[in-house]
Amino acid sequence: MLQKNNQVCEISVQIFSGGFLNEAICFEAVEKKLKRLISRLHINKLIMGWSFSKELYEKTAEFLAKHNTEFYLWFPVFSETGSVRSLASLVDIDGEKIQYDNNNKNEDFSFCCPNDPANIEKILDIYEKEFASIPFNGIFLDKIRYPSFGQGSKSGDGHRSVFSCFCNHCLEKYKQNNFPVDNFKEIVSCYASTLLGIKSYQGNGTYEFEDPVIAQFFMLKSAFIFQSLKSICDYFRKKNLRIGLDVFAPFLSSFTGQDLIALSGICDFIKPMMYRITQAPAGLPYEAEMLLRETCFAEADTFDNENRQSLDNILGIDAMAIPFDLYFTSCELKNLTAHSKSPVYAGLEINRINNIAHTSPEYIKETIRSYLETGIKGLALSWDLMDVPEENLDMVQKMVF
Ligand SMILES: [Zn+2]
Repeated sequence: MLQKNNQVCEISVQIFSGGFLNEAICFEAVEKKLKRLISRLHINKLIMGWSFSKELYEKTAEFLAKHNTEFYLWFPVFSETGSVRSLASLVDIDGEKIQYDNNNKNEDFSFCCPNDPANIEKILDIYEKEFASIPFNGIFLDKIRYPSFGQGSKSGDGHRSVFSCFCNHCLEKYKQNNFPVDNFKEIVSCYASTLLGIKSYQGNGTYEFEDPVIAQFFMLKSAFIFQSLKSICDYFRKKNLRIGLDVFAPFLSSFTGQDLIALSGICDFIKPMMYRITQAPAGLPYEAEMLLRETCFAEADTFDNENRQSLDNILGIDAMAIPFDLYFTSCELKNLTAHSKSPVYAGLEINRINNIAHTSPEYIKETIRSYLETGIKGLALSWDLMDVPEENLDMVQKMVF
């Protein structure tokens, strides 16, 4: 246990062992990294996934048991799983299936519909076949959402993805909830040059919208994700696994169907990805830019300072910059911690990846210093220990002792 500002700060660490279709990294490399890390810090949890390699996980489990570190399987749910099972994809507002070309061998950001019971069955079958025999202490569920505005590679993809799903399962659910599907497209198009008619942001993912139907749409998506996740969590509970959830930062969460406070009630810890420097999905500067671009696209020629200024004003940030506003991000964590029903582990990127995450000791220093004053239970050192420079680890060690 580590002490900082009179509070206990727990440390969890993530290792990406490869995608479902990749060759897994080797145990010797993992062991070397872990030995070095454990000689500096006590690690409460190691989260590793999601390549198929029983041997890697079994050896790692044995190693961690000796060091009093819990072992969690990092398991993607509504995305990635489509690469190894045939899953029903999301359907857009025009009734077209949403499928994007995947240019990244390691990660697949296509999503399946969370309301299709057959999808959930097939996803859990991956766990059963590939991971159930491995002695994990817990499971860390990732991609437990709909796509974000950062989905796809061309203009309009994000908007189309966020305003889904309209498959038969979803249409039935909208009907049960008296949601006006027929004129929804028209309503959304009224706001195609503004930020969806957002009037204000009240923290913890709660926005006030001019149009109640838009508010209802996002509320329903969060309710659907919660219902599906609840049954998935019940399944893993029966297997005596503890449960962690990987979620978006609060101000981005409601656009992806994540009600963080509700979700915090069905897990053992929640990890908001507070990645202030990451220029990729889940990174705050990337997702905020995409939120802006994918909601204010109708008048592309006039997309300028005015749109930026309105998002800055709604969120109460100085300006969108990299790294993302530290004061705002820390307030987000403070609000979440105050209302969360389970401990909050702040996700902080410490790996360095060219053109994606230019982390530095300075960045880590200011971020950890501020995050530790928000009431969080711990830090989740993300998202891949295998790519962390020594100088970044030096700084983590300095800041948490
Ligand atoms: Zn659907």
